[in-house]
Amino acid sequence: MQMTECAFCDAMGLDPFKIPSPFSKCQVCWGRGTVSVADKTIMCVYCGGSGKHPELRLTCPVCWGKGVVNIVREPTMICPECGGTGRAPESKLPCLRCGGKGVIGVSK
Ligand SMILES: [Zn+2]
Ligand SMILES: [Zn+2]
Ligand SMILES: [Zn+2]
Repeated sequence: MQMTECAFCDAMGLDPFKIPSPFSKCQVCWGRGTVSVADKTIMCVYCGGSGKHPELRLTCPVCWGKGVVNIVREPTMICPECGGTGRAPESKLPCLRCGGKGVIGVSK
């Protein structure tokens, strides 16, 4: 594990959407400004590393606000379902095939 800056609040420690108040602590890092992530991570393609849900004022459902996700076991390939965007083509929800990561492990 390692510590990284909280993507959701930009390491400010406050809720970026001021919910329920401007003084609300960031729900991802609980106001610390940093979050613990796995040693090897990749940027979350679903939210573009912002930690925020692309459509809603919520944490990204794929990385839970951290902006990064655990690396997929190698070798990997671009997810054929979403073309690497992490979004299901029609629903815009996280792609079920890759879980929103945009890449999948190549099964042997
Ligand atoms: Zn935070
Ligand atoms: Zn994300
Ligand atoms: Zn996918």
